[in-house]
Amino acid sequence: MIELEGIKKSFSMAEGQMTILHGIDLNVSAGEMVAIMGPSGSGKSTLMNILGCLDAPSTGHYLLDGVDVTKLSKKQLAKARGQKIGFVFQSFNLIPRTSAIRNVELPLVYNGVRNRRAKARAALERVGLGTRLGHVPSELSGGQKQRVAIARALINDPAIILADEPTGALDTKSTTEIMELFTELNAAGATIVIITHEDEVAEYCTRRVWLRDGLIRSDDPVLNRRTKLDKVSA
Ligand code: ADP
Ligand code: MG
Repeated sequence: MIELEGIKKSFSMAEGQMTILHGIDLNVSAGEMVAIMGPSGSGKSTLMNILGCLDAPSTGHYLLDGVDVTKLSKKQLAKARGQKIGFVFQSFNLIPRTSAIRNVELPLVYNGVRNRRAKARAALERVGLGTRLGHVPSELSGGQKQRVAIARALINDPAIILADEPTGALDTKSTTEIMELFTELNAAGATIVIITHEDEVAEYCTRRVWLRDGLIRSDDPVLNRRTKLDKVSA
């Protein structure tokens, strides 16, 4: 699904070149749910931007769903992004004063897809918000807003969902809800990569990758992965 080989990323600064990623090799297979962890400034968001085709690496190869995206033009990259990737952010990035269903439907408007309303409704039902279609973001809790954002990420049926600290702005209860939702989506076949600072979040994943100073320091399966059932029996 994702194959990264020798990914480096440098930025030109007033003080000269600053290298943030020093050579990342990472494969993510279909059906995995990967946590990317590491201290602030370790390059997690930079890596996510590359994974999400929002930014190009300085050197290295990136195969997404079999396509070498480092060889694509800006326009082709934007198209690949729209078709293959669903994004979820810490700050939800919903459009204010706009209904949940409209927020979810918007990515389809740009692609000229038909039956947008029905698809948006189905996506919101899938995340448990079938009764909140007409609510605007200010009428929703943090956890509900993140559900809307997840429904929006699902709408194009992406090959992969990328989430950058999706629970960073949520309380413990909403964090649990959102991670249970991601776990359900993963069980239904979604491939998910989540950046997080929180151990609790990583415990819901199948694999934990630890980044430090722009290099992968460890990459291990999660033992005793958390599930909904653990909570019920606890
Ligand atoms: P993390 O998400 O792990 O906290 P980031 O990937 O956001 O880390 O940032 C890693 C480092 O790269 C930081 O020191 C940051 O200041 C720097 N950085 C990120 N994006 C840019 C950019 N566009 N230009 C210059 N420096 C950047
Ligand atoms: Mg970050």
